[in-house]
Amino acid sequence: MGEGLRNWAGNVTYSVAELERPGSLGALRELVARSRRVRVLGSGHSFNLIADPGDGGVLLSLTALPPSVEVDTAARTVRVAGGVRYAELARAVHERGFALPNMASLPHISVAGSVATGTHGSGNANGSLASPVREVELVLADGSALTVGRGDPRFDGAVTSLGALGVVTALTLDLEPAFEVAQHVFGRLPLAGLDFEAVSASAYSVSMFTDWRQPGFVHTWVKRRTDAAWDGFPWAEPAAVAVHPVPGMPAVNCTQQFGVPGPWHERLPHFRPEFTPSSGSEIQSEYLLPRSYAADALAALDAVRDTIAPVLQICEVRTVAADRQWLSPAYGRDTVALHFTWVDDAQAVLPVVRRIEEALAPFGARPHWGKVFAVPAGALRSLYPRLGEFAALAGELDPEGTFRNAFVDEVLGG
Ligand SMILES: Cc1cc2nc3c(=O)[nH]c(=O)nc-3n(C[C@H](O)[C@H](O)[C@H](O)COP(=O)(O)OP(=O)(O)OC[C@H]3O[C@@H](n4cnc5c(N)ncnc54)[C@H](O)[C@@H]3O)c2cc1C
Repeated sequence: MGEGLRNWAGNVTYSVAELERPGSLGALRELVARSRRVRVLGSGHSFNLIADPGDGGVLLSLTALPPSVEVDTAARTVRVAGGVRYAELARAVHERGFALPNMASLPHISVAGSVATGTHGSGNANGSLASPVREVELVLADGSALTVGRGDPRFDGAVTSLGALGVVTALTLDLEPAFEVAQHVFGRLPLAGLDFEAVSASAYSVSMFTDWRQPGFVHTWVKRRTDAAWDGFPWAEPAAVAVHPVPGMPAVNCTQQFGVPGPWHERLPHFRPEFTPSSGSEIQSEYLLPRSYAADALAALDAVRDTIAPVLQICEVRTVAADRQWLSPAYGRDTVALHFTWVDDAQAVLPVVRRIEEALAPFGARPHWGKVFAVPAGALRSLYPRLGEFAALAGELDPEGTFRNAFVDEVLGG
């Protein structure tokens, strides 16, 4: 078997050997217009074949286009090119005195690829990374350009789009004034008697980590804004040493802890841009369900923790505010997100993924689009009340199905 082109984790191989890297918008438009099947690869951090164009298709990379980041100080917005990653975006925005409301656990991922899959950070009042997006610029299958902004009836389908509408060449995002965050890590927190609502509401962004070797959390990471009052964290002791979310990995890879205040983009992600995020040898899955079910869903996982623990590196529990994107896993519901970093052994992991999906099905759990899941297509459709409208939008903007692939066909049907 040839080496092939793989995703970041190396657990999937795309159908094409090479990326196409147009060097100008004109070249990109021409390439798209003459291609039968096209998909775009962002930074390749998804764990499944969502980006794969299939045999004979074209896999585009936007990394040869200018990585422009244009801040409009008066409008408090930033227009960012389709290939840019959060690390570069955050630095540029911060230099101009602005901030994004939230970031994922890592800044290594592309903005366009992240919002396409509903990627999120944590915080009861923080929507997914798609929430600050106000405008999307697309190149459609015939090579024409289309801008869809807030207020357009198509907008709520156009940001978290699984890459199925066209090539996202730029996005415009709302900004807010730069702020500082202090990150504190706390130790053991048992599941018995856990007041999930209080813990998740205790700061701007809260992440709880468990290895499911016992009923409870090994660490809770609390990211508090220094411009907001904070009542402390009365449920657990502060950690004595700096930690990494994955046991055994070096804490130097992680953003500053011990409550030292710093810029938002150097505290909201768990991982520093110059280091490998997470463990690097892994598979991930994640399920998002209504936050009001958090305690019941955690109890359901606890009931199968003997199945989970042997193939788990770490499980992270976060919250996400409801949003309006039709295909967002947080669509229409304040959400708790249950994330699993598995060992890099698909054969051992897949049966456990199925077991978890059974345990979480009663809670209407929606899988993360960019991670490994086995939820059948029929069940997926019932989890997304606006999926039909999204399919109609994809049919309108891409009538020949140029941006369809096996993954999107499975989700949309046909
Ligand atoms: C170590 C690690 C940590 C992670 N942490 C988090 C986390 O904290 N929170 C979370 O929610 N997720 C997390 N993820 C998942 C990750 O955020 C998603 O998989 C995200 O989609 C990755 O962005 P990407 O640019 O790599 O996308 P890719 O995997 O490259 O692409 C994802 C989708 O976007 C499409 N796409 C990409 N760019 C464009 C474009 N310009 N135009 C049209 N379509 C495009 C692709 O075709 C594909 O369908 C993590 C992943 C890893 C590996």
